[in-house]
Amino acid sequence: MRQGMKIRKVLREFEAYGWETPTREIAAEVGLNPEEIVRLDTNTSPYRPTAALRRLASVLPETRVNDYPDTSYHGLAEGLSKYTGKGLERIVVTNGADEGLDIVTKVFLDQDDEVIIPTPTYSMYRIGAQLMGARVRAVPRRGDFGLDVEAVLEAVGPRTKLVFLCNPNNPTGNFSPLAEVERIAKESGVAVLVDEAYYEMCGKTAIDLTDIYENVIVCRTMSKAFSMAGVRVGYVVAKAETVAEMNKVRPPNSLSVLSVILGEAGLANLGEMRKNVRATVRERQSLFRRLSEMKDSIVAYPSETNFIMFKPRNAKADDVQRRLMERGLVLRNLSRVRGAENCLRTTVGTAQTNLRLISELKKVLRN
Ligand code: PMP
Repeated sequence: MRQGMKIRKVLREFEAYGWETPTREIAAEVGLNPEEIVRLDTNTSPYRPTAALRRLASVLPETRVNDYPDTSYHGLAEGLSKYTGKGLERIVVTNGADEGLDIVTKVFLDQDDEVIIPTPTYSMYRIGAQLMGARVRAVPRRGDFGLDVEAVLEAVGPRTKLVFLCNPNNPTGNFSPLAEVERIAKESGVAVLVDEAYYEMCGKTAIDLTDIYENVIVCRTMSKAFSMAGVRVGYVVAKAETVAEMNKVRPPNSLSVLSVILGEAGLANLGEMRKNVRATVRERQSLFRRLSEMKDSIVAYPSETNFIMFKPRNAKADDVQRRLMERGLVLRNLSRVRGAENCLRTTVGTAQTNLRLISELKKVLRN
């Protein structure tokens, strides 16, 4: 009997990643030019990594794109080792933090294992775990979006293999005290993945817990603070034994030669990154103040990241999002995210973009 081509069972009722609509499609839909559209839905930096781009431009003619990159990305790993203060044997370089998450799920999850995910949070944890055949136990965050540590620990069972902690958390923006992360690591005993994609905007990190606890794994990215979302460089820091397991499953050559050059140059020019992060933090404070002043029409949630979540009080987030989009400002609509109902999330832009956002938001909420 002929066997038809069948997709995996897990994909039949799968909730996929909420793909961002391409700019040209949005522009066509709302009747604007693509250049008039400002993306505030991807938590990326409005600043360009100029020193790194200059470096790439200067070495480009001699760059050996006909060869694979060094499979251990040695120069980039050295830069990350210096940046994090952890030895080379403690670091895995990845194609963005997303590949780091993917590799971690492949190291720890078998069919029917369980993972714990405090929600609302970044959707790739659920997706990665489900793709491995694992079951997700979502543990709702508290009213202030802090971790419900007791509930997380109670959810740990014999099949639990991994806890995902996004810190600071996307999309809510808040940071959970390191003592809570440490308690979960200590008392659960299972692998605890701390996603620090927004570390630099917050300044607090669980990375030193990886020196002490063999089950703490920190995953980070150059996409946000380093202004390199399009470059695709991330990394994972853990105990050397865990890194060795990750190296068994990571694909060879997942970074491009060009990404390696840009990543190395970004790490060699930390001053530029730090200046941009300071500007973002300043702008976040200013944007948060302005949003908080609109207290009759919205609730703004405090953030330690480069984005802010807020909730319209008397309007539908769907409508607010739509009308801002018609004005060229694209925000992330969280209406259908459990625990973030009727919320929107905006990236912190430049001073000019943020003023424009506030002004358009006031118009949209007025009528
Ligand atoms: N983790 C979190 C919490 C994120 O918000 C993102 C990206 N938005 C990622 C990981 C993935 O980042 P990268 O671009 O490094 O794959």
